Amino acid sequence: MKSHARVVVIGGGVVGASVLYHLTKAGWPDVLLIERAELTSGSTWHAAGGMHTVNGDPNVAKLQQYTIGLYKEIEAISGQSCGVHITGGIMLAGTRERLDWLKMAKARGRYLGMELELISVDEAAQLFPLMDKKHFTGAMYDPIEGHVDPYGVTHAYAKSAQIGGAEIVRQTRVTDLKPRADGTWDVITPAGNVHAEHVVNAAGLWAREVGRMVGLELPVLAMEHQYLITGDMPELAGRKEQMHCIDFEGEIYIRQERGGMLMGTYERAGVPWSEVQTPWDFGQDLLPNDLERIAPSLEIGFEHFPSLGEAGIKKVVNGPFTFAPDGNPLIGPVKGLKNYWVACGVMAGFSQGGGVGLSLAHWMVDGDPGADVWAMDVARYGDWATLKYTNAKVRENYSRRFSIRFPNEELTAARPLRTTPIYEKLAAEHAVFGDYCGLEHALWFAPSAAEAEDHFSFRRSNAHPHVGAECTAVGQAVGLLEISNYGKFEIRGPAAAEWLSRIMANRVPAVGRIALTPMLNERGKLIGDFTICRAAEEHFFLIGTYAAEVHYLRWFERHLPPSGVSVRPCAMEYLGLSVAGPASRALLQTLVREDLSTAAFPFMSFRRMDVGMVPAYVGRVSFTGELGYEMWITADYQRALCASLCAAGRDFGLKFCGGRALNALRIEKSFGTWAREYRPIYGPFEAGLGRFVDFKKDEFIGRGAALEEQGSGGRLKLMTFVIDATDADALGDEPILHEGRAVGWVTSGAYGHRVRQSLALGYVPAELAGVDSGFEIEIIGQRHRAIAQSGAPLDPAGQLMRK
Ligand SMILES: Cc1cc2nc3c(=O)[nH]c(=O)nc-3n(C[C@H](O)[C@H](O)[C@H](O)COP(=O)(O)OP(=O)(O)OC[C@H]3O[C@@H](n4cnc5c(N)ncnc54)[C@H](O)[C@@H]3O)c2cc1C
Repeated sequence: MKSHARVVVIGGGVVGASVLYHLTKAGWPDVLLIERAELTSGSTWHAAGGMHTVNGDPNVAKLQQYTIGLYKEIEAISGQSCGVHITGGIMLAGTRERLDWLKMAKARGRYLGMELELISVDEAAQLFPLMDKKHFTGAMYDPIEGHVDPYGVTHAYAKSAQIGGAEIVRQTRVTDLKPRADGTWDVITPAGNVHAEHVVNAAGLWAREVGRMVGLELPVLAMEHQYLITGDMPELAGRKEQMHCIDFEGEIYIRQERGGMLMGTYERAGVPWSEVQTPWDFGQDLLPNDLERIAPSLEIGFEHFPSLGEAGIKKVVNGPFTFAPDGNPLIGPVKGLKNYWVACGVMAGFSQGGGVGLSLAHWMVDGDPGADVWAMDVARYGDWATLKYTNAKVRENYSRRFSIRFPNEELTAARPLRTTPIYEKLAAEHAVFGDYCGLEHALWFAPSAAEAEDHFSFRRSNAHPHVGAECTAVGQAVGLLEISNYGKFEIRGPAAAEWLSRIMANRVPAVGRIALTPMLNERGKLIGDFTICRAAEEHFFLIGTYAAEVHYLRWFERHLPPSGVSVRPCAMEYLGLSVAGPASRALLQTLVREDLSTAAFPFMSFRRMDVGMVPAYVGRVSFTGELGYEMWITADYQRALCASLCAAGRDFGLKFCGGRALNALRIEKSFGTWAREYRPIYGPFEAGLGRFVDFKKDEFIGRGAALEEQGSGGRLKLMTFVIDATDADALGDEPILHEGRAVGWVTSGAYGHRVRQSLALGYVPAELAGVDSGFEIEIIGQRHRAIAQSGAPLDPAGQLMRK
């Protein structure tokens, strides 16, 4: 084994092998993969090898398309067959809701270039004759589904990497990782140590253990997973290979395996494997079968596909594989650890392994994944994703693998975990809560305890009128919103202003002022959007998206100078309340000594004030587009501040408002938000944030690329649409059609209660920016006329918030 390598990849499953191949392809041949046993010795060897392009996140779906397309390439390079069978697949719906879901998935596929087709039950039965039609209401056909040989794929990646210069060492376990002062690593093995510039944790079933070598507790857990193979079936003899089939109601997947059928299930009563520690001596082993556990699914399966029941069971496979709490992979660099990368939690290695390898290799070689990988970024989890939290969430995710997630459905596992001091007060006001990074936050307020629950639906739900009343209160009187779930950073030091000026695209505000700013990467793409509040010459607060806190910190760490600036995340230290609406000033004026008139405290001001008895930072800014104030206080004061605002608010028609109202209010103002409108695939001018890019500054990250985009106008344009929709609004990811052709996609949608219109924000090609007619947006399989707006539907000139 060599003693130095640019990269050591730990783990020779399908993911590690793909990372290795992609590193050589990206121009780093000096790479070494170390495998504990033989290649595929983790979960890879016993996988069913199924692959498909459909995924809830369009960006992950694109990487799945890439993975499936890659097999030809690695077969050609390596000469190793991947055993690819493209059979096509059908997804069967047994309920109206599932059919709606399929319609939405098909619509999403439209702008991803996927050829998905909705078909009748009769057509489905022609494609998949083993089904009993009476259990189903409709289906979707995907021509690009099939399966591969897990051994073949892994070896094809490995051989292709070796041809590109990589080395692979087998039967050698990495037992420890020791960082050097310069950020490189000593990789410790019984066969000797390797000095590596970078290490990649692709240890699959042992990813947690390899994380613990460097003090990292990765949120992954293995679940036992079973599939069975039936005896040979006369129905299959002499016929073309059966296609893949997913039966959502039965919660099973089926495909042909030689003369019989393979049937697997994600059972409700899923069982985790090795909850705390994965044994190092687990080899190419299988777990004992437990047909009892999957009996309910099998029963339905045999009812829905009767000939499978008659064929008898030839073989059962029970093996473990790992999941992150939301079921998506965990990839990327890890905050606080230089040159330590992860590529783990990949639950669909044969659909996602290629995309994971590609993105990680680009990230390492070019400093940027080259695609929008937010849904897979390890940074989406913070310290709150503890071992037990992960356990509860992974079980939930596994058991719901084939369940519909409604847009207004909040999952219940691991809750409540984090609460703010006013949680009980909000509950007493009949709040319906949602979970955001493990933190409970009010979504909407019901008129009574009995009504405080969401009725799940793709259409306007029982919450609709109550969210409407909250929006009306903000538009006509004053609303009280908890805004604790924003991310916050305290930045201090003599070099703080200079550093912020370099890292953010907008100018740094003067003391007592606020500035909105995008944060760009070197390619001039959006990697964050912030509110900068300047409390003193050397003291700033940065307010942004809490879910992206670790992602931001990773970037800050990378760009911090050795001294002169300190960055401290303080999201849960400073909690927030906001009052917004025309009466908000009069209300707040009863609690503060300072003059709140526009002359004395204009829009975008920021100041330390006592609100009643509570010391607070008060900013004159609001995401609602109305006159409004945001108040930041340490957690110990939140209850008192809330009580003071409620007492003072009685004379002003104060009403509690939740996150759903805030979402509708910001869409009426065409205000975007991180992970929806603002993502690293868009530039600031495309996203309508050009006015927050200050080219008067000589230097900031992304300046050159942003300048170019200003000149060209960019490829895309974020637009606001008013939709002719009556009972279901756009939610996000619906296709935008122009003259019948899919040209773009919706990023957010909601009913705008103040303007009484169904609204959506979305991207279209820049050449359609000035066009207002000819658009349609498809909502649950129905196309609706959509009129593009030239400005925000509410108060386009922004007068209300400046009053
Ligand atoms: C029953 C079953 C059916 C499945 N069906 C499908 C399917 O149809 N389609 C699909 O896409 N996916 C399927 N999967 C999931 C698929 O197996 C995984 O997505 C995939 O195997 C993950 O690969 P990996 O490389 O991340 O992990 P692993 O395969 O676990 O590989 C990790 C490797 O790292 C090595 N390693 C760990 N620690 C060290 C160390 N310290 N030093 C050196 N080496 C180390 C291990 O020996 C192992 O070889 C299935 C899984 C199971 C169990």
